[in-house]
Amino acid sequence: MSRKACVIGAGPNGLAAAIVLAQAGLQVEVFEAEPTAGGAARTLELTQPGFLHDFGSAVHPWVVGSPFFSTLPLADYGLQWIHSPAPLAHPLDDGTAVVLERDLYDAEAALGSDGKTWRELMFPFVERWSEFAPEVLRPVHLLPRCPILMARLGWYALSSARSLVRRFGNPRTRALFAGLAAHSFLSLDESLTAAFGLLLGVSAHAVGWPIPRGGSQSISNALCAHLAKLGGRVKTAARVESLSALPHYDVTLCNLTPRQLLRVAGDRLSPSYQHHLKNYRYGPGVFKVDYALSSPIPWKARECLRAATVHLGGSFEGIAASEEAMRKGQPADRPFVLLAQPSLFDATRAPQGKHTAWAYCHVPHGSKVDMLGKLEDQIERFAPGFRDCVLARRVFSPADLESMDANLVGGDIGGGAMNFRQFLFRPTWRQYATSTKDIYICSSSTPPGGGVHGMCGYHAAKMALSQIEL
Ligand SMILES: Cc1cc2nc3c(=O)[nH]c(=O)nc-3n(C[C@H](O)[C@H](O)[C@H](O)COP(=O)(O)OP(=O)(O)OC[C@H]3O[C@@H](n4cnc5c(N)ncnc54)[C@H](O)[C@@H]3O)c2cc1C
Repeated sequence: MSRKACVIGAGPNGLAAAIVLAQAGLQVEVFEAEPTAGGAARTLELTQPGFLHDFGSAVHPWVVGSPFFSTLPLADYGLQWIHSPAPLAHPLDDGTAVVLERDLYDAEAALGSDGKTWRELMFPFVERWSEFAPEVLRPVHLLPRCPILMARLGWYALSSARSLVRRFGNPRTRALFAGLAAHSFLSLDESLTAAFGLLLGVSAHAVGWPIPRGGSQSISNALCAHLAKLGGRVKTAARVESLSALPHYDVTLCNLTPRQLLRVAGDRLSPSYQHHLKNYRYGPGVFKVDYALSSPIPWKARECLRAATVHLGGSFEGIAASEEAMRKGQPADRPFVLLAQPSLFDATRAPQGKHTAWAYCHVPHGSKVDMLGKLEDQIERFAPGFRDCVLARRVFSPADLESMDANLVGGDIGGGAMNFRQFLFRPTWRQYATSTKDIYICSSSTPPGGGVHGMCGYHAAKMALSQIEL
């Protein structure tokens, strides 16, 4: 009789964990609260029929660069990648845009006087991506496999984006780096922000920032299909309220954040472990809008049409001010907006001639402030006439996001704040293990944190397999 495993939550990490367990020969059942598997990697008709919108993740360097997902035959289940001609565009108030080219040498040429500095910053990591990615996408280790490279990253981890950009002479390059570093949800004066910006830039050059044909649901569908091939089952519309309501499993992996883990398994966890989970800190939230559009976005800088991702915030100082306000618990006047325009490169996303856009800005945790006007003002700033192209919009406050995926607590898309403590010990010093031998946590509240890479699920399942007596 093979052993039975249960996974709660069919997000990318839950599905990764389920696949690792099924590969090891366990009978795996996944319980998913929502009607469709995928968690924050789902694609839904959120505005009008025929317009496919990514509910959560849209751009996927961490899937193609994932040491685990890249070993799976996901293309056999229909997953296809599309690379826009450039990964990223960053428009400025003078009507031009800085464009990040995927090829590092093209980027060097495009960034002019800062090109050499950019290349020298990125090159050591880009060149050794295949050794580097497994190291950064796992718990911090005292004895890394590429110590010099990791020491170099560690040095940047101590620095802020503001200090790193001093090496760039051109304000355009400083603005470009600010947009990358702001993915951290931290103030650009905080440590870790330089390393965040660096990692995002390195990923663009090493593996690109591709979008999946058909949307992020194609990733989740491929993972589910592969799991089914291995004998695993996903039950949707099956929210787990308490582990005690489930039949016996030899091991349970929870694709949940600490607050939910306490709710479903609290009575089986030790008081001190419960105390640690209660002290876990969530991060800021996002305010998101999905658009059905009558035409492509009318960018002032036409170069923006070359990139699936566009960062809207102008100068380094503008983006820094936005993130500083968010950290202080205030809505930014001119929020930094992350925008994706997938239908320019993937015709399956919208009816012929029509388009979609996906945009969000950072807001304080659980914020109830309506940011729609300010978010659209930022788009209009670089694309006058944008509002005239809007056929329909769907607005998600942090609470709306959480209502469609319970892991998005207070609109936090990263599974918890990324401060030094939670960078090292996430969600507790036990990482994937809990105080109970047969219960593990495998969501983005464990190392390495947010993003669609499946590595939280992978490492949790490996730990579970090594520790339970099978
Ligand atoms: C708006 C937004 C934009 C993003 N953009 C990107 C991006 O471009 N690129 C990128 O790499 N990442 C992006 N992310 C982050 C990425 O989507 C997440 O980090 C990733 O999905 C985390 O995976 P997970 O499996 O840990 O959790 P989730 O994807 O959140 O999955 C958790 C699952 O558990 C289920 N669940 C919760 N409670 C229960 C319960 N009690 N019983 C049963 N099921 C339950 C939920 O319904 C959900 O399906 C974005 C996220 C959001 C929301």
